[in-house]
Amino acid sequence: MTWNIFGHDGAVNYFKRQCEPSNTRHAYLITGPEGVGRLTLAKAFVKALNCQEPPAKYDFCDKCQACRQIEAEAWPDLTILRPIENARDIKIDQVRQMQQSLALAPYQSQWRVVIIPDFQNATVAASNALLKSLEEPPARAIIILTADARENLLETIASRCGILRLRPMSVDATAKVLQNKLELEVNEAKKIAHLAGGRVGTAIHFAQNQDMLEEYHDTLSQLHEILPETKRARLQYAETVSKRKGNQRENVSGLLSVWLTFWRDVMIAHSGADLPIVNLAQSDTVKTIASQLSLPQIEVILKALEKGLEQINANVNSRLVLENILLNIPRLKV
Ligand SMILES: [Zn+2]
Repeated sequence: MTWNIFGHDGAVNYFKRQCEPSNTRHAYLITGPEGVGRLTLAKAFVKALNCQEPPAKYDFCDKCQACRQIEAEAWPDLTILRPIENARDIKIDQVRQMQQSLALAPYQSQWRVVIIPDFQNATVAASNALLKSLEEPPARAIIILTADARENLLETIASRCGILRLRPMSVDATAKVLQNKLELEVNEAKKIAHLAGGRVGTAIHFAQNQDMLEEYHDTLSQLHEILPETKRARLQYAETVSKRKGNQRENVSGLLSVWLTFWRDVMIAHSGADLPIVNLAQSDTVKTIASQLSLPQIEVILKALEKGLEQINANVNSRLVLENILLNIPRLKV
């Protein structure tokens, strides 16, 4: 096992070669579905660049102060740029601020590194601002972007990065990781690996939070139940959701995030693209739904969901948001 990362040997070997100073680039892009291990890989690369007691060349110990601080995101020469609270995207001001700090020499290592997860969510203005850093990179800086797919970034950005695409592992391989790492019993491991669609990070998360696993499953089932229903039944469903206990905004935004994974799968199934779907356990339903819709119809649904999540962040009434989305989805056979 290399770098303690499962199932991405090719990617690990690539980054090991990048540790050789003459190979190191100023920008990388790691793509793949959420939960597949993009951020874990980015951090492992930073550890390999900085480990104080590497057990082998371009390896890391995961125990020294550098490794521990990188893991805890407290290493002075590492910045992880995330959206500010309640926002879904990276703003231009954050990029500008990052660029100022990136121009300074590193505090205690060879490189100053910035990791920007989910850069597909950055605003166009923020993307254009970042482009400047990629065109004229500061001497001792490395920028690592992660995204769901290269196609969702400006091509001018992607083309300046060393690109690594992480694919989910097979269900069996994921199940093996769960069995070895968490000592799960074989059938349980297979069930969880299936639901997580071969995304190891997601699978481990589900295995450690059984409640989340059930909730995820429930949320998808509710979507499947509501698809053949009338407007009236859908509005009743929105009312029921709005009366659930807990924070209404968080409830609805959690629900929409899960639905979004399903509809992205429908889009993939419809396009026939060679991309792995997330909800493997629902692959039959995904195909059935995809066959009843046109591409523009699927796009309308995806846009409605994405807009809905933004509206909830902007404090729009979450029940109205949910109603609007449900009315945007045609009646379908499941
Ligand atoms: Zn170390």
